[in-house]
Amino acid sequence: MRHGPSRGGPRPANDSQWTLEGRQDARRLAPGLPPLPSGTHVPSLWPMLRALLGRWRSSLRLLRPAHVEADRAKISVSQLGHRYGNKVVALKDVDLNVRSGEFVCLLGPSGCGKSTLLYALAGQVKPTGGAVSIDGRRITGPGPDRLLMFQEAALFPWLSVRGNVTFALAARGVPRKERRARAEQYIRRVQLQGFEDALPHQLSGGMKMRASLARALSVDPAVLLMDEPFGSLDAQTRIHMQEFLQSIWMRTHKTVVFVTHDVHEALMLGTRVVLMAPRPGRIVRDLEVHLPMPRHPDDAALMEMVRHVQGLLREVEQGSKPPEPPPVRVPPRPSPPTVHSVTESVRGP
Ligand code: ADP
Ligand code: MG
Repeated sequence: MRHGPSRGGPRPANDSQWTLEGRQDARRLAPGLPPLPSGTHVPSLWPMLRALLGRWRSSLRLLRPAHVEADRAKISVSQLGHRYGNKVVALKDVDLNVRSGEFVCLLGPSGCGKSTLLYALAGQVKPTGGAVSIDGRRITGPGPDRLLMFQEAALFPWLSVRGNVTFALAARGVPRKERRARAEQYIRRVQLQGFEDALPHQLSGGMKMRASLARALSVDPAVLLMDEPFGSLDAQTRIHMQEFLQSIWMRTHKTVVFVTHDVHEALMLGTRVVLMAPRPGRIVRDLEVHLPMPRHPDDAALMEMVRHVQGLLREVEQGSKPPEPPPVRVPPRPSPPTVHSVTESVRGP
């Protein structure tokens, strides 16, 4: 994989400012833990600190800044801007290059323009500035190479699971004699065999979403665009669907752009996580996730990355707020505790 400055638009002057890697603390701590001064007695605190720092350092290695050049990208977004009719600036100067086979999660608080960006990729929103290209061709509207999935499974309620899939195949011009076999192949792939003749109201929320996924995969789009697809599912079903989608992605290596505001979901699924901020909607971090798949939802390294990215999002949210008025009185800052004083307080009086 080649890294270099993106040609899709300006990058930050110094990429190290995008991750903890660039911080003084990280530089100081990364080469290894400093030895304790001789005579220091910290029997229980030191191993705990060492474990915490070890976990923190591993999350640094697992999240790295992404650099994808426009000429190596399947999807290329350049200087994209969108202003709605009510003058809301939903997107401003967005640059994003996505390689073929990547699973990119757009992550950020509500209103930061995730859906607007996704709909621009789908060709459903005509941006007021910039351009989106797929395989070098500029997008001017929806196309069969892209499929957009929403939170609702959006199945036809009067058609069976098989009927919903074959309808989509017919709409894409698949010959009649091939449709049934192909529909059943994808219904098996999403583990809904035995429910081919069931109507949507006879399925649970997770099963409806799997039927919707079978329909989406059966038409074999080059790019799958998903807007918070598991947002309405209960927590358990949601985890199950994430594991399920991951196993499908590992088999197919489709190019996926997945919108979520859930940090854990983004890090569970994404090979790359793009953090966005509101007012105006923009990209503030673009990170590759180097945690092997399949990922387990309770994995310690995953949880550590979740805490790290939650911290980044908090910083982003604070940065987007208007500045607070200056405080009337600044209380004196307590001096930072030394290792010795922490040990004392742990030991008690
Ligand atoms: P997200 O998906 O991150 O929650 P959206 O892309 O839906 O964000 O919205 C970005 C901004 O654009 C928000 O401030 C939202 O209120 C505004 N917006 C979204 N859709 C419309 C619309 N159809 N008309 C006017 N404003 C809109
Ligand atoms: Mg949205």
